[in-house]
Amino acid sequence: MRKKIVAGNWKMHKNAEQTEDLLNELIAKIPTDTETQVIVAPTFVNLASAVAHLEFTNINVAAQNMHQAEAGAYTGEISADMLQNVGVNTVILGHSERRAIFNETDALIASKVDTALEHDMTVIFCFGEELKDRQSANHFNVVENQLKDGLFHTKESDWGNIVLAYEPVWAIGTGETASPEQAQEMHEFIREIVRKNYGKEVAEEVSILYGGSVKPENAKEIFSKADVDGGLIGGAALKADDFAAIVNAI
Ligand code: 13P
Repeated sequence: MRKKIVAGNWKMHKNAEQTEDLLNELIAKIPTDTETQVIVAPTFVNLASAVAHLEFTNINVAAQNMHQAEAGAYTGEISADMLQNVGVNTVILGHSERRAIFNETDALIASKVDTALEHDMTVIFCFGEELKDRQSANHFNVVENQLKDGLFHTKESDWGNIVLAYEPVWAIGTGETASPEQAQEMHEFIREIVRKNYGKEVAEEVSILYGGSVKPENAKEIFSKADVDGGLIGGAALKADDFAAIVNAI
């Protein structure tokens, strides 16, 4: 059985104090017996305290990004070793905001993926088409190319550490969600191309998360689809009640 996962990407929100407050609320509200893997991704400066805070809970911590080099003269950057040294073993890579605002290319993301996997970290690999791609009916091609160019160079044995997060850019932070049918259609397509490249077992085991305006009101229906194994949540991850409700919607 593949894992169900709900991950909260906090983006550039919550200072140290606010992080502690939100974590306390999440600890109180997220059921301790859930089989769903729950992940939060606060900002870099709050990762170490979040790990310490969540030590005896079922909530895991991920980073929102990292640099591909082991170390060096890269002002402002954070390495895999630095993350692992504070207890973070999961990293979100390829988020559409990193691609669009920080000019991250498929090739750069691919090298970050390599570094993370070499460190035995889990990668939450994000990808998804823009509105113009969907309007021109090019969305399947775009998604396939992002996977080919950013991820499909990895070995079959790496896939135990890979989680996919399909996030159509037009649905991120816009309040507009892919319909459950649109999500299922794309997730099924994604699983099929994983199968073609890595075989049935990898395709059946990989968790494919949906991201883009997931809220308590729409989570249940989206998560009920056969190939949707959970969500990567932005805005609604910043409110404990909403995030807990989304976790409970699986
Ligand atoms: P929203 O849930 O705010 O649309 O953000 C989704 C996202 O980008 C998660 O990584």
